[in-house]
Amino acid sequence: MSGSSIKTITILGATGSVGLSTLDLVRRNPERFKIAALTANTNVDALAKLAIEFGADYAVIADESKFSDLKLALSETTIKAKAGENGLLEAAQMNADIVMAAIVGAAGLRPTLAAIKQGTTIALANKECLVCAGDLMIQEAKRSGAAILPVDSEHNAIFQVFDFNAERSVEKIILTASGGPFWDKRTDCLKDVTPEQAIKHPNWEMGRKISVDSATMMNKGLEVIEAFHLFPVNADQIEVLVHPQSVIHSMVQYIDGSVLAQLGSPDMRTPIAYAISWPNRLEAPVERLSLAGIGQLTFVEPDFERFPCLRQAMAALKNGGSAPIVLNAANEVAVEAFLSEKIGFMDIPSVVDIALTKLDMKAPHSLSMVFEMDTEARAVAKAIVENMST
Ligand code: NAD
Ligand code: MG
Repeated sequence: MSGSSIKTITILGATGSVGLSTLDLVRRNPERFKIAALTANTNVDALAKLAIEFGADYAVIADESKFSDLKLALSETTIKAKAGENGLLEAAQMNADIVMAAIVGAAGLRPTLAAIKQGTTIALANKECLVCAGDLMIQEAKRSGAAILPVDSEHNAIFQVFDFNAERSVEKIILTASGGPFWDKRTDCLKDVTPEQAIKHPNWEMGRKISVDSATMMNKGLEVIEAFHLFPVNADQIEVLVHPQSVIHSMVQYIDGSVLAQLGSPDMRTPIAYAISWPNRLEAPVERLSLAGIGQLTFVEPDFERFPCLRQAMAALKNGGSAPIVLNAANEVAVEAFLSEKIGFMDIPSVVDIALTKLDMKAPHSLSMVFEMDTEARAVAKAIVENMST
């Protein structure tokens, strides 16, 4: 709680890539952090092991059918077991200084919003929830006073160099993109890409869904929408620049021509450390940047023809209404179908395109409308996938 030097943290999505990197920092700094609640989707063993190691108060498994397994795994401890969506909401609403929102996909929206409503500081990794309901989330955060601290490396970089006292002196935000594993491949090579190739990111180790998003560059598209909600800029003030070395994590250009950048090794523990210790800094065990060792930093314009997902996401932001919700839902369904080898890599943008043309684009006014639109878009996208794979 405020005033005390130990910060309590709840991690939504503790067993994932961002969740485990966060726990790595907590493990190294037991005098600074204490775990309130940890959540996972289906992996009871991993969740129980982490909850015991970190002495969590609560452990929550989203998959209700695993509840008895979790209770059994924690039976000799005082850790309280919970399950299902209500369990996730309870975890999000627990008294904690920080909620790390690291669930993947729109599934993270309800719990993240529940934490925002309580006024809890959010370390936000789950970009999909901002894409689906950015306006509602930012509105709620303003009402409750919750600070939203970006964990995504690009947004964390911008957060570090953005002059919030002189917003009008910002000319543009430049989001850097590694371009993923295929940034220099020809279109005809892309159609035969396998899931194994797509999830092998050249610079970052991440969960499967975001790794595929990086390969299609949908990830950068989602990040453009994320940046629009997090920072006081218009859509046309956000640019994307491909920078394959992932050393410059993003930049802000000012009206006097100055460009401020944040640099570092591609290791999520740097942005996570900044988010969970802000406004201070935390020692992070990441490899130090050796610019002389790297030698050269290179940059190219993004190619919207080879990476249609980037264009689709930027158009969805400009078109507004339900377009970002449909884009995100269709993409989640398509990525899942690609990972289970039902559709090809270049079918991902096709599924998104067809879903966008099939659905009504009126703007959501409430969270329940967001969920209705998300559900409808998923059903439509699944039907498109079925059609493609038969
Ligand atoms: P991951 O797949 O490794 O982990 C996801 C976590 O969410 C797991 O703990 C899983 O159990 C949980 N989860 C998955 N589906 C769920 C559901 N339906 N209900 C409840 N819990 C569920 O993902 P990740 O790579 O850690 O990414 C998490 C989020 O952070 C994503 O939104 C991603 O875009 C964002 N992000 C990740 C990185 C990275 O380096 N991994 C970088 C920037 C942003
Ligand atoms: Mg990123």
